[in-house]
Amino acid sequence: MRIIRSVSEIQEWSSAERRAGKSIGFVPTMGALHLGHAELFRRSVAENQRTVVSIFVNSLQFNNASDLEAYPRQLEQDLLIAERENIDVLFVPNPEEMYPEGFSSIISVGSIAKNMEGLHRPGHFDGVATVVVKLLNAVAPTGSYFGEKDFQQVAVIRQVVRDLNISCEIVSVPTVRDEYGLALSSRNARLTPDQLAQAPQIYVLLDEITKMSRTTKMSSRTIQEHFTNGIESSTAGTVEYIEIVDSLTLNPIATTYEGTTICVAVWFDDVRLIDNVSI
Ligand code: AMP
Repeated sequence: MRIIRSVSEIQEWSSAERRAGKSIGFVPTMGALHLGHAELFRRSVAENQRTVVSIFVNSLQFNNASDLEAYPRQLEQDLLIAERENIDVLFVPNPEEMYPEGFSSIISVGSIAKNMEGLHRPGHFDGVATVVVKLLNAVAPTGSYFGEKDFQQVAVIRQVVRDLNISCEIVSVPTVRDEYGLALSSRNARLTPDQLAQAPQIYVLLDEITKMSRTTKMSSRTIQEHFTNGIESSTAGTVEYIEIVDSLTLNPIATTYEGTTICVAVWFDDVRLIDNVSI
């Protein structure tokens, strides 16, 4: 596995590979790799002749300085995981490489980025869109892989890629969960043992709601109450939002139908977890 730290070097590597007719799959991450990331790597490795993974904790997408500070960093372990997953290139730029002095362009995304994560984390999707476009321009992949766990993020990236004529296929990969249903996340490492035992309740409730709404149409209000009461009566978590949206437009809807997604954000102390299910 080759480790590349500069934008110019990855651009040279990528042009040479494309000239040689190789397809390139790309998986952007913020590190602290787990089996959810590994699933994206495996899809990319299976579908492309070369796979690039980037590890970059993107300060631009953190709206909260202490969250950025506390974000887990474990490069040594990440190197071993990437190596084991047969990644060809690990792109690990430092902050000065991505945002050198004088950097001043930000991509601002329209309505699809305005509710849910966009509302509760002001500036988050501008940061995500900016870094993803920079990374796609650096790696110039054939396809790029994103997790459905970050449901709105995938929608935002599809919008940006379409709007800015970036020639790259966006592939979304289903959420990987632990044996109790908790969506794997780098932030899970910050949960206490008690919180870790309670957090699977997020998915237990979402799964229950999905099953109920398959047989009867449910109003968004009923779903919101069921979820919020379920979390707040049986765990120490606090619900930041539960939104029931159209899976394509991400606009809020009043009653469920096929093609609806339920998105949630729940705080356990100072750790914020997100999850979603599609009906
Ligand atoms: P992150 O390092 O958290 O920025 O995540 C990098 C990529 O991995 C994003 O596309 C995430 O959506 C994806 N990802 C994170 N957790 C999971 C998971 N549990 N299952 C599938 N994909 C995931």
